Amino acid sequence: MIPRRASYRDIPLYAPSKRPCRVDLSDNTNLFGVPPSVERVLVSTASRVPRYPPGYAPELRRALAASIGAAPDEITTGCGSDDVIDSALRAFLEPGDTLAFQDPTFVMVPLFAKVNGLKAVPVPLKPDFDVDADALLATGAKVIYLCSPNNPTGTALSRAAVERVAEDAPGIVIIDEAYADFAPGKAFLDLARRRPNVLVTRTFSKAFGLAGLRVGWGAGSPELVSEVEKARGPYKLTSVAEAVAVSVLNDDAQWVRARAEEAVACRERLRGALVSLGLSPLPSEANFLMVPLPGALAVAERMRERDVNVRAFQSLTGVGDALRVGVGPWPLMETALAALREALR
Ligand code: PMP
Repeated sequence: MIPRRASYRDIPLYAPSKRPCRVDLSDNTNLFGVPPSVERVLVSTASRVPRYPPGYAPELRRALAASIGAAPDEITTGCGSDDVIDSALRAFLEPGDTLAFQDPTFVMVPLFAKVNGLKAVPVPLKPDFDVDADALLATGAKVIYLCSPNNPTGTALSRAAVERVAEDAPGIVIIDEAYADFAPGKAFLDLARRRPNVLVTRTFSKAFGLAGLRVGWGAGSPELVSEVEKARGPYKLTSVAEAVAVSVLNDDAQWVRARAEEAVACRERLRGALVSLGLSPLPSEANFLMVPLPGALAVAERMRERDVNVRAFQSLTGVGDALRVGVGPWPLMETALAALREALR
């Protein structure tokens, strides 16, 4: 018997039963292909592999800073934005401190709270899926987590509510923008530049098509970023991942933008098809649709039997049971729709 941490006893491993399948629409990644410069950079960086990478991804920090008109010390990076969020929680919260977050939201957030020994306080979104600024602020939490466009609902938060939280929060506000590339007009990156307590997190895993390389980043004031970097520690990005991310950012921006626009167009076409099946997807600003549906778990299982994987949620606050369907090229959507029609029979 090993001496286990009592608070870790009931922590499940993340999606351990994920089986490969023909049409996988379960993780909101870029289903439109590989960014053009990836292969070239993978080959040209092979010689770097025997040595350690630089500790804190300086090339990527410089490139990201230039892309948003910031300084490199306003940028942090990590092994996915998961790592940036987790590092930020460790940087600003002691075990026992409170983390408040909108509910429903990204499933990893309560898990990060648990592994870091934090008190998790979920605060329901309003009926219009905007954040309840008063209720979040009333928690007095040292860190407040917001997500826009939100996973799994796909809905975006209002500027008024987010600005209110950022202004009045007693501590740090994390704004998770993993899906901001699908709704650039609704982004809150400017708040990270204007308010010293705001960390905006972004990822290369969704629109940028690099989920397998695990690259995320955050923007915030230099004081905030340096604390996150302490918690992050060195060597979180491989040299290969850093070089690919820099090249996709600098050379493939047009490809990324065009694929994101394609995803948005397919999403709206998919919405129309779902509505004609009698379903009512939530308004989405991301590359997926959330479809409230009683018994969603069983429907997803029947779709899985037809080799289509969508994510099912049970009893979500303010939503109930629902399917989350990732958006990809239209032929994949047709396959998914056929499986859904059969599953609903
Ligand atoms: N935030 C949100 C809202 C997400 O949906 C995800 C991925 N599912 C992440 C963060 C983490 O992404 P990554 O670690 O791949 O950057």
